[in-house]
Amino acid sequence: MPVEVEETQTTSSSQNPFTARFKQFFESAFIKNVNELVKAYPKKQSLEVDFKILEKFDYELADELLDNPDAVLQAAEDAIQLIEIPSIALEEFKPIIRVYNLPADREILLRDIGSEHANKLIAVEGIVKQLTDIMPRLKTGAFNCNRCGTIQMIKQTKDAVITPSVCECKARDFSLMANDSAFIDSQKLQIQESLEKLRGNEQPTNLDMVTTDDFVNKVTAGDKIKITGVLRLKQEKKDKLIFKRFLDVLHIEETARDFEEVEINEEEINQIKEFAVDPKIYDKLIKSVAPNIYGHEIVKESVILQLFGGVKKMLPDGGQPLRGNIHVLLVGDPGVAKSAILQASHMIAPKSIYVAGKGTTSAGLTATAVKDEFGEGSWTLKAGALVLASGGTVMADELDKMDKEDRSSLHEAMEQGMVSIAKAGIVTRFKTDTSILAAANPKFSRFDKTSNVLMQIDLPSTLISRFDLFFVIKDELDRVKDSQISMHILKTHQAGEIYSQHKKGKTIAKEVLKEIEDRVMPAINSELLGKYISYTRQNVFPVLTQESIQELNEFYVNLRERGKSEDGESTYAATHRQLEGLVRLSEASARIRLSDKVEIEDARRAIRLVETSLAEVITDPKTGKWDIDYMTSGQPQTMRAQIKTILNIVKEQSKEFDSVPIESVIESAAEHDISKDEVRDLIEKLQKNGDLYSPKPGHLKPTSKE
Ligand code: ADP
Ligand code: MG
Repeated sequence: MPVEVEETQTTSSSQNPFTARFKQFFESAFIKNVNELVKAYPKKQSLEVDFKILEKFDYELADELLDNPDAVLQAAEDAIQLIEIPSIALEEFKPIIRVYNLPADREILLRDIGSEHANKLIAVEGIVKQLTDIMPRLKTGAFNCNRCGTIQMIKQTKDAVITPSVCECKARDFSLMANDSAFIDSQKLQIQESLEKLRGNEQPTNLDMVTTDDFVNKVTAGDKIKITGVLRLKQEKKDKLIFKRFLDVLHIEETARDFEEVEINEEEINQIKEFAVDPKIYDKLIKSVAPNIYGHEIVKESVILQLFGGVKKMLPDGGQPLRGNIHVLLVGDPGVAKSAILQASHMIAPKSIYVAGKGTTSAGLTATAVKDEFGEGSWTLKAGALVLASGGTVMADELDKMDKEDRSSLHEAMEQGMVSIAKAGIVTRFKTDTSILAAANPKFSRFDKTSNVLMQIDLPSTLISRFDLFFVIKDELDRVKDSQISMHILKTHQAGEIYSQHKKGKTIAKEVLKEIEDRVMPAINSELLGKYISYTRQNVFPVLTQESIQELNEFYVNLRERGKSEDGESTYAATHRQLEGLVRLSEASARIRLSDKVEIEDARRAIRLVETSLAEVITDPKTGKWDIDYMTSGQPQTMRAQIKTILNIVKEQSKEFDSVPIESVIESAAEHDISKDEVRDLIEKLQKNGDLYSPKPGHLKPTSKE
């Protein structure tokens, strides 16, 4: 016969002074909620208690709950057993009391949580960075005495299993009977501080937590949540003095996302409104991005437009929203300030993450499912940068060195604003409403001027075509330009040196200090600029005017026209993707003026950027013509034409030879201006496609006869 053994005596109802007061609370101020739960029980298990209501009812009790949550919550659970509800057998009604809506002084920033909060009730906010599968957890263990077979039920209140100390028969040897024990669902989560609350390069703090029962699987990676719980300190390792913080979750609620958390005061709003009417504002903004980097104005302008962003649109048909995010890719020789520009943009962008190359974060760029220590052997979902910065911007440096897996899910993330994971029975999707500013190096470390740049980047063309703007930064030897950059770098360093002297107490003439500030200070400081961006993203939603529509339309149609040629072999200069990019860029430009209309000047700014961007990347070095196929298929139109030529040559000669010698193909190809190396490349492609095969070394045959 099972014997109930209470683990501690102090919490028993008769002795706890708070039980009677909770009984009163549940029977009067909270009776409606209790009755509702009775109806929904046991499907719904939680009695959610608004702290503010409890506080109104019994100030002292509420106060005690904050400082002594374990005992007071136990009293509340005991009180439930004592209230008079005729419609239910009370032994069956054992809800979990979940408190939320704590007073403001109990809302603690993750970085400020310390030992003084141990075993206290606190509320924290953050974004879910990783979470495990559901893990069953022992709630009440059934222990069988190995001598006489008596079973003892032990309520589990600690981290490690509590076993009975001794049996009635005096034996001390027990086995845990899993089938007779009671389990609850539990789940481990890790949250990270909201990015909006960080400045510049500050690293976010994390906190682990455990949630149970019907609060399991309530949230997923990337969700922004507010959690109420009891802070615990757990020893990292036996005999070590260092303890780890974690939270026993009582309550979770989802909170607003995106930029709402950036606090902007009245004075700052006035400053922003002044910027908006300043005729030099675009210039000032460009000068505020990486002032220590000389030149690259067009890249800086693009970065600015990206940060302000296009308008995300819902259409009345209820389909997928049209993205407002602008994606920008910088490719270039090493040492041309790509990383510096990404870092500078990260300093400004209110909600952003900078990731570089391989393995900066274990979850990488998008999201992953892994079996690791955090999950204690079960699956853990980990949110990567694009999920964590959803609604903001990710600066992805050295994109060419990213994990292949990450790169492949990047398409979906950039276009659909989602990443999906299907692995080990986990099928889930995360929101990645994120703009991407990426940088990549050329495949062979330096650009070769004689061939198209897109062919020299180790990224799939399908990925490249997702970027709205694309800039090539070449490190060209140019005495005048070199000297300008060099002077700029030297003067920046000099300014830093003088400023350091000033900081160390040396007297520096006022005029000199002023000149130095002018030299290196951005026109608008990054904090205010970040607020300017947040403000417009929250408040400004411009609409295309008839004139701007016409301007964009004309440019686009002309752009497509440029792909046509006299000989009928038409290349394909632009796709609808470019058109949508133009719209987003125009909207971003209008946002800067806090304008609710996209004017013709905005359309022209977008056109100028897109034109510059396209000219660099889709010009065919052979013909000088634009060819968007570089972007969409990774093969220029000329290459497709050459492939056809080679195939025809082989087919023609196969009428003569049983199998065609490659040397003979090379000879004929020379008449078509195709070099020996190119022929070998093209043959390889044709073999890969299955159009040609090699019956013996150095010889070819077409796969089909006609
Ligand atoms: P990348 O990422 O393109 O390889 P980095 O951003 O690491 O290059 O730049 C290398 C260094 O050269 C940085 O310290 C950067 O400030 C400096 N630098 C490069 N180009 C310029 C420039 N145009 N003006 C000022 N500094 C520059
Ligand atoms: Mg770099």
